[in-house]
Amino acid sequence: MPITFQSLLTNKSLLKAVVEQGYTEPTPIQQQSIPYILNNRDVMARAQTGTGKTAAFALPLLQRLSAQRQANQGIKVLVLAPTRELAQQVFKSFEYYGKYTEISMALAYGGVSIKPQIAALNAGAEVLIATPGRLLDHLVNGSLSLQYLETIVFDEADRMLDMGFKDEITRILQCIPEQRQTLLFSATFDDAILQLSHKLLEDPHRIEIDERNSAASDVEQIVYTVDEDRKRELLSYVIGSKNWQQVLIFTRTKQAADELAKEMCKDGIKAKSLHGDKSQGARDKVLADFKSGKIRALVATDVAARGIDIVDLGYVVNYELPYVAEDYVHRIGRTGRAGKNGLALSLVSPSEEWLLTAIEKVIDERLLQQWLPGYEPDLTKKEAPKRAVNKKKARSQALQKRNGATRRKR
Ligand code: AMP
Repeated sequence: MPITFQSLLTNKSLLKAVVEQGYTEPTPIQQQSIPYILNNRDVMARAQTGTGKTAAFALPLLQRLSAQRQANQGIKVLVLAPTRELAQQVFKSFEYYGKYTEISMALAYGGVSIKPQIAALNAGAEVLIATPGRLLDHLVNGSLSLQYLETIVFDEADRMLDMGFKDEITRILQCIPEQRQTLLFSATFDDAILQLSHKLLEDPHRIEIDERNSAASDVEQIVYTVDEDRKRELLSYVIGSKNWQQVLIFTRTKQAADELAKEMCKDGIKAKSLHGDKSQGARDKVLADFKSGKIRALVATDVAARGIDIVDLGYVVNYELPYVAEDYVHRIGRTGRAGKNGLALSLVSPSEEWLLTAIEKVIDERLLQQWLPGYEPDLTKKEAPKRAVNKKKARSQALQKRNGATRRKR
């Protein structure tokens, strides 16, 4: 018998919201985690964004809170997310799923005034979604207490560690009850995550969602080998000739994102950039314009793009391959979400081939390199003298850069 939402959840208000969202059946991560979370077990799940993992923890936690309905004692559920975008996304999901319940929720992230957040917390919230840095600001200020916390969720825990939030996590743990439920969601289970999980979780139920099995699996991957100085021309040609709308494009740096967006506008493709140097207001506006279709191409850095959830996003382009190979997985996970088809196009210059090799190792798959007629790399061209790239150093600098960017943005 197929597992249905009705067999997993009893709360009518939540079921109504799920139906309104158009979900017909629970995704594998939802099927496997909801019963354990309802039973108060610690859960450790390996699942990418796009698999439906937010509902996998939001729905059972909301059901439990609805059942309690006692005098408001403060925050009972805390969700920690590595970036503002993901925090906003998770908050929206909680709001959607909980729209027919009376559960109060608050959102706290850095880069914006703390005052409205304090007011929202003072008004009483049972669920708080926060980024680690701003949460600590609130704890230090005394604007919130976590003494009645029942459940803490670490969303995209691998990313949190990559971004250097280990100390923040340790400090947050000192402010919450030892007796609690802990849920950890991560795209990868590497050594750092396993170490953290020993510290955080007690006898966790472990779930591993096979990517092939997940909602994010239907992504076609195409690689075009092209000279660096012809990438933009090729990209504008592909977007124009294939009439792609809503294209998310990744660059490694903020400067590259700005420049590419400008140049694409000159090619007649409405594009804007999204990165950590923009104010929160500007980032929200760009995202809203992209989602509503006012902007056709969004050129983003990895940190800024984390957590972007656009239903039906059809195209992701790796204009520059990431120095951290795992980011490739996160990038292409922006498309092909929840069972929809998606296409990930990577433009690889000859000097980036070592990055492609690193990616192939991570995804355990060979990616066929193709030439787009008219844009073949010029093999007679003398390549610019190769700057010796220390591969390990490039990766570690990229990680550090993200880390620094996050701290500055807090
Ligand atoms: P997430 O992995 O939580 O970021 O979710 C990715 C996308 O899947 C979001 O757009 C959700 O609205 C959608 N989604 C979550 N659960 C389901 C489901 N059971 N059926 C269809 N779509 C879903």
